Formats: sequence, structure tokens, C-alpha cells
Amino acid sequence: ADAPRPPRVVLLASPGAGHLIPLAGLARRLADHHGVAPTLVTFADLEHPDARSAVLSSLPASVATATLPAVPLDDLPADAGLERTLFEVVHRSLPNLRALLRSAAPAPLAALVPDFFCAAALPVAAELGVPGYVFVPTSLAALSLMRRTVELHDGAAAGEQRALPDPLELPGGVSLRNAEVPRGFRDSTAPVYGQLLATGRLYRLAAGFLANTFYELEPAAVEEFKKAAERGTFPPAYPVGPFVRSSSDEPGESACLEWLDLQPAGSVVFVSFGSAGMLSVEQTRELAAGLEMSGHRFLWVVRMPSFNGESFAFGKGAGDEDDRRVDDDPLAWLPDGFLERTSGRGLAVAAWAPQVRVLSHPATAAFVSHCGWNSTLESVAAGVPMIAWPLHAEQSLNAVVLEESVGVAVRPRSWEEDDVVGGAVMRRGEIAAAVREVMEGEKGRVVRRRARELKLAAGRVWSPEGSSRRALEEVAGKWKAAATTHK
Ligand code: UDP
Repeated sequence: ADAPRPPRVVLLASPGAGHLIPLAGLARRLADHHGVAPTLVTFADLEHPDARSAVLSSLPASVATATLPAVPLDDLPADAGLERTLFEVVHRSLPNLRALLRSAAPAPLAALVPDFFCAAALPVAAELGVPGYVFVPTSLAALSLMRRTVELHDGAAAGEQRALPDPLELPGGVSLRNAEVPRGFRDSTAPVYGQLLATGRLYRLAAGFLANTFYELEPAAVEEFKKAAERGTFPPAYPVGPFVRSSSDEPGESACLEWLDLQPAGSVVFVSFGSAGMLSVEQTRELAAGLEMSGHRFLWVVRMPSFNGESFAFGKGAGDEDDRRVDDDPLAWLPDGFLERTSGRGLAVAAWAPQVRVLSHPATAAFVSHCGWNSTLESVAAGVPMIAWPLHAEQSLNAVVLEESVGVAVRPRSWEEDDVVGGAVMRRGEIAAAVREVMEGEKGRVVRRRARELKLAAGRVWSPEGSSRRALEEVAGKWKAAATTHK
């Protein structure tokens, strides 16, 4: 008899390389290890066309690709913002997606896998009679927050918005103060809360979630999702990651790597706030002073400071030169004499570093991180403990989980105070103390050991009996079974 045809699965990546990279990793694994024929569908470029084509061109031939045509957006107000724009792009592209899914194909469709900004595609999957699995590019802890919000409203009247408890208990003995809850979930009377609730309810249409995490990183959250699925209150979540960038995507030569080569093993604190994080001018100065006070070696990726109180430059990632002047030099905002005083033991680089290579360099000992989920996974995979410095989105939640439940990070002490969570300036003494704690302290010994354990655990998830491999095979098995019955 003929070998069964591999089930065809369409993965839908929302615009933005940060979402595309892990989904491309998932597509590749499905093709190479689980007998699935994936098609990775992207949207026409909003920005960063090079980043998208670099990811797509690195895919093996076993992963098919397709691009949805551009949709008109000229009626949107100029200040619509990236989130609203993304949402509109996804909505307006649904007819094109439907056509693409219906078009002649080598095998019937077994599943649709939109990432979690494309949940609007779930009803299209239902229309076509195929299961939808939502890809979650962040922590299961963050997805728990969505689940809790939806479950809280079971039995609520139409339009009624109930407030999450304060503090909010999350799986793994984690307790979140209201100020640590991602902004949109904090205030149940705000319109954005209603939108999140509606999205969470849409998630209930999913057959499951494929999350970019792994069992050993978030065991309590995985177990809680299992219970919710058994109760029938929320779809099951499968931890199938980590999908992190490969160091081969980064240039092998750079000034930072050359500098790291000259430093002793395990001596350098790497400082970076992701592709878009920003500090105020004052905070940049305090951080500089704190690093100087700590006495430790550091490699700091300095970005232009924020002048408007925002901690995040939407859509202004590296490579986007549109509204950045060529003569903008972030290093010019460092305190006078700082570079001279720290020369030899500190290196400040402007805007960007090859982070995956830096984290896996033997000289790197710790990571001052904004706890963006990609950075977190890269740090965990490299066995590097973190000093958690969340800036926006779900990062504060990730930071609490990484400190209190995973045990792989410390937070500067003043994070106990609500004003710091709310954006007050972190003082130099606190920063220096946190760096010393991780590098030399008792708590540091514990987080360093935990980081080493997790690195080993992350290295095992794809082995034949590894947790992520088994979780992904459980889902792929369902797709294969469905494909066989369709024949
Ligand atoms: N990154 C990098 N060099 C930098 C800053 C960021 O390579 O100087 C990469 C980092 O390795 C990660 C991504 O950009 O893969 C940032 O993603 P994350 O989810 O951590 O944060 P975001 O940028 O979305 O806030």
C-alpha cells in the first residue's frame, strides 16, 4: 500500500519577525520530525521586508510558503498604532485566507495554526470543518491570564466586565500584584479589557494551543491547563518549544564577540532590552552608574533613550531607519566620562548585538533582560541566569514567574514598591546590588545552578522521549489520524 500522505497544515504568522521566527521553527520541526506537510503563510509586508524574507529563505524545501496579498489600509488614521493596524490587517485578509485554504491543494487540510494575534482566523477554520490550534509565542503564564479572564466571566451578563482578583494567584505559587499584571488586564472598565475578553472567548474555539515553552520551564502552568481542559472550560495547551533563533542566523564576527573573547570565562553581565525597549534619559544614567558601581564586567546594548515616557518603540526595531536620524548616537546619552572610566571592563554598543551568540559565549555570566519571551528562552537555552527588568506588555508577568516559580532570575529589590513597577526610576544602588547578587551572592548561586539545570532540560526536549517532542507528536498524531480518515 502507498504510504499515507502527510497531513497538510497551514500556519499563519502575524506580521513581524518576532512572531514569524518561532512559528517558522515549529513548521520546520513538523516537517522534519512529525510527518506533517506545513505551509507557512505570511502577510504582505507592513515593514521590515528583509527580516521576513531572511526567515522564509532559510526554510527547508519541506516547508511550503505563501503570502496573503496586501490589503488597503489607507482609511486608517495615521496614529492607529501597530496593534490596531495588525488587527485590521488580519481582519481584512480573512477573505484572502479563506480563498487560499480552499484552493486546490495536494491533500485535504488537517488543521489551521494561526499565531495568537491571528485568532480572528479561528472561525474560518471552523467554517472549513478543520481544527484550529493557536500558536502562543509567549509564556503559558501569560496565556493563563487570558484563560483566567475568560473563566471569570462565565455566567456574566452580556457586556458585564468583572475585575481579576488583586493579587492574582497564578500556577506555581506565583502571586501577581495588580501593578504587575499586563496593562490591558488591569482595569476591567477600560475598552481594551473588553477586547481582550472577546479575544479570549475566541480562543475557546481552538482545538488547542501550541505554546513556545517547554514542560520543565512551566510545569505548574501545563498542569493547570490540563485541568481546565478536563473541566472543559478552556482548550488544552501543548508546550512544544523552545523555538529560538539559531546563532548561525547572526554574523559570526562583531566587535562585541571579539571583546568577549578577551574576557575571563563567566565574568560578563550582558545588558539588553530587546528589539524595541527604551529607558528614559534618567534611567539610562542610573543604569550606567549602577553597572559602574557593581564593579563587574558588562556588555551593554544601548538604545536611544525615550523622551516621551514610553518604554517601547512600536515598529521601530533595528533596520527601521525611517524616523531615526543617522547621527542619532545612543552612546551620547551615557554619563560624562562613563566610557572612559569603565574602559577595559565594560563595552557599550549602539542599538544591536548578536544576542544568541553573546548569550552562549563562555564569558557571559548573567543577563539584565526585559524578559521578552524570545530573550528569555534564548537565555534559558544558553544556561544564563537573568536580572529581570520588565518594561511593557506581558514582561512584568514573565519576570515574576522567572523569579518566583522558575527560579532563574532575580529582580532588583525596589521592585517590591509599586512606584517602580509603575515606571519610577530604578536607582543605581539597587541595580549594582542586583548585579552583585547574581554574580556573587547566595541567591545568585541558586539561580546560576537553576540556569544550568534548565539548560540541560531545554537540551533534552527534542530527544525521542523529550517533553516537547512527545507533546507535538500527540497533536501531529491527531492530524495524521484525521488525514487518514479523509482519504
Ligand atoms: N535581539 C538581538 N540583539 C539585540 C536585541 C534583540 O539579537 O541587540 C533579538 C533577541 O535575540 C530576540 C529578539 O531580538 O530574539 C527580541 O525578542 P524578545 O521577545 O525578547 O523582545 P521584543 O523585542 O519582542 O520586545
